[in-house]
Amino acid sequence: MTGSPGVTRSPAASPRPGAAQRGRNPEVVDHGPRDRKQVALTFDADMTEAMLRNRTADYANGAVLDILERRGVAATFFLTGEWVRRYPDVTRRLAANPRWELANHSYNHRGFTPNCYRLGQVPPAEMTDDVARTFSVIEPYGGRQTRYFRFPGLCHDAAALTALAPLGVTVIRGDVVSGDPFATAYQPIVRAVLDKVQPGSIVIMHVTKANAPMTDQALGPILDGLTARGLVPVTVSELLATPPSTRASATASGPPGPAL
Ligand SMILES: [Zn+2]
Repeated sequence: MTGSPGVTRSPAASPRPGAAQRGRNPEVVDHGPRDRKQVALTFDADMTEAMLRNRTADYANGAVLDILERRGVAATFFLTGEWVRRYPDVTRRLAANPRWELANHSYNHRGFTPNCYRLGQVPPAEMTDDVARTFSVIEPYGGRQTRYFRFPGLCHDAAALTALAPLGVTVIRGDVVSGDPFATAYQPIVRAVLDKVQPGSIVIMHVTKANAPMTDQALGPILDGLTARGLVPVTVSELLATPPSTRASATASGPPGPAL
């Protein structure tokens, strides 16, 4: 650990969002229910070994956070362990916002399959520890913790899923890829999102400023476009939660179940 996170844990809530049954291969989620006008904006915080060596580049996009805060927008952040270690203050800011939740994006953004772009590969025997170690870096910051995991480059296979089974994670992919890495203009990002987004969508963006320098400029028009479509950003936990109305009717019409 680097320093003391200094943010108190939120009151224990159970079950923790995204906590799947340990021992089973994790569920892989691309999107939420299509019958509610909600979407989840997700922001990945990549940090590779090469990025880590570049001490002058800024890989935390504070302008994205400013916009989300100013407009009171819910978001889910998929953090690599090395990004958290480099940006403890920004991580504290993420954890302190009650509309934001924290999720896991591996320790240092290596691939979990042999040929995941040019990300290298976590040796299969180390995959479980890589993800567990990342949770242990994120969890002391408190706030809204989850057991959600996103594979670097979205690359996974059966062996990778099996490796994560002991951790009780839910794998989150997405159905709207913004294409913000290495963008040179913001308009294509806005178009990519607004052309594909629909109720239940999980939108993939990045908060790694130097590697995704247009995301903050795209975010305002994206939020305006969502508003125009009547789509409300929520956290992934909220997107995937059983709506209260369904829960109530299930209780009323179904057989008595165990008290949860
Ligand atoms: Zn990533």
